[in-house]
Amino acid sequence: MSEFAENSTLKLSPLTVTEPEVYEDPLELMDEIDRLKVEKDATILAHYYVDGEIQDVADFNGDSLKLARDATQVSTSTIVFCGVHFMAESAKILNPEKTVLLPDLLAGCSLAESCPAEKLAAYQADLRAKGHDFETVSYINTSAAVKSLSDWIVTSGNAREIIDRVPTDKEILFVPDQHLGRYLSEVTGREMILWPGSCMVHEIFSIQDMRRVKKNNPGSQVIAHPECPKSILDESDFIGGTEKMRRHVMEVTEPTTFLVATESAMIHPLEKAAPQHKFLPVPGVMESTGETCACNRCPHMARNTLQKLRDCLKTGQPEIAWQPYFEKAQEVLTRSLLQ
Ligand code: SF4
Repeated sequence: MSEFAENSTLKLSPLTVTEPEVYEDPLELMDEIDRLKVEKDATILAHYYVDGEIQDVADFNGDSLKLARDATQVSTSTIVFCGVHFMAESAKILNPEKTVLLPDLLAGCSLAESCPAEKLAAYQADLRAKGHDFETVSYINTSAAVKSLSDWIVTSGNAREIIDRVPTDKEILFVPDQHLGRYLSEVTGREMILWPGSCMVHEIFSIQDMRRVKKNNPGSQVIAHPECPKSILDESDFIGGTEKMRRHVMEVTEPTTFLVATESAMIHPLEKAAPQHKFLPVPGVMESTGETCACNRCPHMARNTLQKLRDCLKTGQPEIAWQPYFEKAQEVLTRSLLQ
């Protein structure tokens, strides 16, 4: 029997779709959520990749790093995390005494799923047996079980600073995102053993389509998330996680067209932060047919809806349950993100 609980790494099909819901007026739902928040003593945290209307009813919006830090500042007894499973797990790990709810327990992450804890443990043992002396640096997009096997946790916002903390006489095993790992290896000059994982959303951006949109919008700038493949990063004007992207566009005063190579819901906070600019999504391409698609929306993030948010506030379910390996993950997360 594995020491890691069944729900530690969700096994989901990347094409898992959100069930249709009976239509309810979004404005009424938002009012109901505001009322329930007070009644249930709850705080809502929402990632930049969930629908804009959910971001609008949230108390905190941000990327993984900002939200993990925000979660430790919450004074209510309940946190509702509108994002994906590993994010809600991190909020629970950093706030063991609080009730942490996730509107849809099936909101997983293809990147986290690409690195199951059992496989990582076996790979680490194999590397050690072959004489490698390394520390494991994990991107935050991993299950708590993987975090418990790691020495450090990074986000796209703090990766450079954390990698500088790994002693130079140690090798680095970086999991699970190969594109982010390759990019970080370039910017830090540290060689890394890379786990072959990737995000289904960032993997699909088409370099040809990006060039076409750029040509049709003279003077435009490409802003890309470091989870994108090297071909996209090489032709981008700015590379950074979502929070860094937001700060970057706010600093540009001249009205500019930005082509955004990340999850397309990110355009909502960018427009709010810097309304002087125009933001266009970089199109994705379907591997099976080669056709341009709207697959730059994360199907896991899209599982969060206003209705599910309202329902979980009402019922107090689904809740993230504490697991024995959360304790080790807590030590690593605290050292990496809060100190
Ligand atoms: S966008 Fe990619 S990395 Fe982010 S939650 Fe979705 S599948 Fe995971």
